[in-house]
Amino acid sequence: MGKRMMRAVVMKEFGGPENLRLEEVPAPEPGSLREREVLIRVKAVGVCYHDLINRLGNLPRTRLPSILGHEIAGAVVAVGSGVPALRPGDRVATIQRVHCGRCDLCKRGRSTLCKEGVFFGEEIPGGYAEYVVSEEQGLARVPDGIPDEEACICACTIGTALHVVRGRGGVQLDETVLITGASGGVGLHTIQVCRLIGARILAVTSSPRKADRLKEAGADEVIVAPELKFAEAARRLTGGRGVDVALEITGALTFDQAIRSLAPAGRLIVVGNLETRPVSFMPGLVILKELEIRGSFATTTPELSESFRLVGEKKVRPAVSRLMPLADAA
Ligand SMILES: [Zn+2]
Ligand SMILES: [Zn+2]
Repeated sequence: MGKRMMRAVVMKEFGGPENLRLEEVPAPEPGSLREREVLIRVKAVGVCYHDLINRLGNLPRTRLPSILGHEIAGAVVAVGSGVPALRPGDRVATIQRVHCGRCDLCKRGRSTLCKEGVFFGEEIPGGYAEYVVSEEQGLARVPDGIPDEEACICACTIGTALHVVRGRGGVQLDETVLITGASGGVGLHTIQVCRLIGARILAVTSSPRKADRLKEAGADEVIVAPELKFAEAARRLTGGRGVDVALEITGALTFDQAIRSLAPAGRLIVVGNLETRPVSFMPGLVILKELEIRGSFATTTPELSESFRLVGEKKVRPAVSRLMPLADAA
């Protein structure tokens, strides 16, 4: 008998979307699962801007051929010998990057920094496929009532938002937060999480037609900046003071303006890097205002579980823009 096959969208070369092709490839075998591994039948997978960056060849750890997709929801098919907590049929979703769960950083709750961490679509095959394998520490249970197509995006949107807003950003009630790239997936959910915490939100977009959507998501003010010059508006909207926190979801294009938007002692949290190119800024501003620049990477399994709780309690709404079959991934 031949190997069990599955349909998967395989990327053999970097470049345009035509490099994502639906193929039959060997499926992961239940019998060959390692101790902590879980075989999952994929029910829904999110399409993320990260996938586009990966497809273009801008992520150094990706080995070809690769199967993209790190926003995965599905049902457990089989588990390795060391996974007593999960059984076939259980609904689960993955975080983007699976940590080891055993190193010092993982034990200190900084699992996103785990040196052994592996990202779906980079070091390990992702979820643009019928089946995927994840170690159990990268999985959270999906509660009843949250459909797969919503569950799959929660890690990368709401989980990432919790990690950046509350974790790395330490956003407090009554602080003013500026969000660049606010109309993207992370942005729309970051607005909702800031709203829950009680911060005042200034959302930046380059497109006037996205302003309504940002207001709907909960932004107090929308700064429409077609040229991405928004620092002056941010200072004006804060009585000349500047914002307490700038959440940089875009990267190079908006970095300098985000720094210039900050109040003294403000914090810039860098979470998005759409163009993956270097930035320049005035060190004098950082020195004289005693600014802090912090990074925020991905999300943790507890944050994914918490995202599901917030969705279940209708405190945050996952924003799914479009559904399509696997064959149309490209
Ligand atoms: Zn993502
Ligand atoms: Zn670790």
